[in-house]
Amino acid sequence: MVGERAPLRRILLKLSGEVFLGPSEYGIDAETADRFASELVEAHRLGTQIAVVIGGGNIFRGVQGASQGMDRSTADYIGMLATVINALALQSAIEKHDIQSRVQSAIGIQALCEPYIRRRAVRHLEKGRIVIFAAGTGNPFFTTDTAAALRANEIGADAIMKATKVDGVYSSDPVTNPDATRYDHLDYRTVLNNDLKVMDATAISLCRENQMPILVFDMTVPGNIISATRGEPIGTWITKGDGNGS
Ligand code: UDP
Repeated sequence: MVGERAPLRRILLKLSGEVFLGPSEYGIDAETADRFASELVEAHRLGTQIAVVIGGGNIFRGVQGASQGMDRSTADYIGMLATVINALALQSAIEKHDIQSRVQSAIGIQALCEPYIRRRAVRHLEKGRIVIFAAGTGNPFFTTDTAAALRANEIGADAIMKATKVDGVYSSDPVTNPDATRYDHLDYRTVLNNDLKVMDATAISLCRENQMPILVFDMTVPGNIISATRGEPIGTWITKGDGNGS
């Protein structure tokens, strides 16, 4: 499974809100957002259809609100609104490059963006627009990782590309454990059984049930989105196992 793969036709890129932080501790750093947008646009120009699920952790996370005494569902809805803010910022950064982009939200906010309509999203991709899915799944108690798994399956993506700050999945935290080893390839079962911190278990299970490949890669390295969409050997691939793993 390791090594070059065929270039990908359609991908679902999962970006955490944190990627927009740049040097800041909160919110959106415009220069950082512009850099990601440039890379997305370049990968798109090379022929890959791109849909994005964006998180909201740079602005608000439901669990944080709940830990401060807020009702959990309300806190999660605030978190979902944070993802809409990020989606609009990304759309604006993408459209500076004369590439069309559409934001579709799982929660109706008609004045700002389209509602999520699967067939329409696919049509946008076919027409060469970058589609940004906002508001996660539209349900509290879920995460944008699960939204990424859901949307990737719905739009028939070839893979989910999960952008992180490390160059793949490790046996333990490489920051605290110098002996941690990096995997080139894993199966879904190993990720779940070993509780490897990749995406939440709901997202991994959904990918496993539908055999949706996941690439975990380091998005802080310039050019990595393009390498990933071209099928170059970077990061860690999570797929169905060759043996009895699944
Ligand atoms: N959220 C939610 N349902 C979803 C997706 C997101 O309730 O389907 C809320 C949840 O509160 C979460 C916040 O939105 O903490 C921001 O999303 P997430 O934490 O996944 O963002 P990321 O960590 O990727 O930036």
